[in-house]
Amino acid sequence: MTGKRVINFGAGPAKIPETVMEQAEREFRNFNGTGIGVAETSHRSAQFTELLNSTKKLFVEELHIPSNYEVLFLHGGGTGQFAGVPLNLSAFSKNKEQPTADYIVTGAWSGKAVDEAKKFIHVNKVFEPTKPYTGPPVVDTWKRDPDAAYLYYCANETVHGIEFPKAPETLPGVPLVADVSSNFISKRFDFTDHGIVLGGAQKNLGTAGLTVAIVRQDLIGKEQPITPGILSYAEMLKNNSVYNTPSTFSIYITKLVLEWIRENGGVDGLAERNQAKADLLYQAIDNSDGFYSNNIVPEYRSRMNIPFRVGGGDADLEAAFIKEATAAGMLCLKGHRSVGGIRASIYNSVTLDEVQVLVDFMAEFKAKH
Ligand SMILES: *Cc1c(COP(=O)(O)O)cnc(C)c1O
Repeated sequence: MTGKRVINFGAGPAKIPETVMEQAEREFRNFNGTGIGVAETSHRSAQFTELLNSTKKLFVEELHIPSNYEVLFLHGGGTGQFAGVPLNLSAFSKNKEQPTADYIVTGAWSGKAVDEAKKFIHVNKVFEPTKPYTGPPVVDTWKRDPDAAYLYYCANETVHGIEFPKAPETLPGVPLVADVSSNFISKRFDFTDHGIVLGGAQKNLGTAGLTVAIVRQDLIGKEQPITPGILSYAEMLKNNSVYNTPSTFSIYITKLVLEWIRENGGVDGLAERNQAKADLLYQAIDNSDGFYSNNIVPEYRSRMNIPFRVGGGDADLEAAFIKEATAAGMLCLKGHRSVGGIRASIYNSVTLDEVQVLVDFMAEFKAKH
């Protein structure tokens, strides 16, 4: 390590565990003793095939994925799947004239999912979201379509800091589709009623380039005829995710991250640490006499992305906060450009000690201003 120690609170691409970085550095030039680097290894080689299969196996074991699901390694990010989901699932709508799907909009990412899905399926928003987003409204007012092919939700809204404490209820026979891009393997996932669980790797699982879709087997094979090969779950499954060149280096990094999870108490260990980190930071916000504020309904507060305001949204104070935090070695705390303020992303690889450093800084900053 060169330079001064810093803490990465970035929303994504985000912090990668220290030991993973070290191993990747070593193997960059010499993978498994082959004498060639991992990024220059053929995706058709026995070495890579072994890597891909063992990564998949680790996924199944660490996330406790039931045996009637397939793990697919795809391209295009969460955003690619905003199109991939309706393209693959529209045939499951009971309305054959105009296939439809239900969407729960709780923030920026589910909103973007709707904009993309509309091109390929009729979208029914189960409620009209209020802005600014502060959490989902009372469930009794939801207008669900019994003909829907699926019910879509974003398990953790990265920009707005809203996380479902548990999956929403769906109508019988309507599978859930969850975007878990920003809370993948952050606690045990209950697969009940889920058809697809998807996300990009660059927040909780490694580097950008790899997108994972965990798809229930009975939903594979009815994609719209126009579906591009790289978005077709059937095509990808048939080719063991090597329909074209997969993002080999990202898969490699994710394998190391999954091994790191295994060695550090598995998903349950992570869940415990993630809760402790979030509790620490929310307490600092809530016990600041309003100097710091977060207006998300407590039950729906994200454990991963914690947005807050300083001085009720005072632009000068917030700019000073970012500036002084950066000088103290805490990076990437600026809120998303659409909402402003501060956002601390405390994904799996961020430690409790690092959150404590931030909380101590917040107390000092408050005393000073
Ligand atoms: C980051 C993010 C996305 C988009 O991911 P890309 O890989 O950039 O397409 C989608 N959904 C959520 C919840 C995200 O946090």
